[in-house]
Amino acid sequence: MSESGGENLYDEVISAPEPQQIDEELSTKLGLLAEDAILRGRPYQSEDCHTCVYYLDTDKDVSYCWHPKLRILVGAEWWCQWWEEIPAE
Ligand code: SF4
Repeated sequence: MSESGGENLYDEVISAPEPQQIDEELSTKLGLLAEDAILRGRPYQSEDCHTCVYYLDTDKDVSYCWHPKLRILVGAEWWCQWWEEIPAE
């Protein structure tokens, strides 16, 4: 492509990524959900998601929490007020 007349890839204005409306909506929705659960990104005493009955796959550092009020991905070291011990088999 010619430098003089045609479009040049380098002439395009590259804009910084920005959150869209859906991101703001989800952020608000998930923020309220996290607030309601008192969700934290760290353990509480000896309790964390990894040792909670609702943490679906204990082999993973991030897994699905199937608590009916959450149903989101959480980290193994997170915690919320609905933590429940895994029953002994
Ligand atoms: S219920 Fe709470 S503590 Fe248990 S896995 Fe879900 S977010 Fe973690």
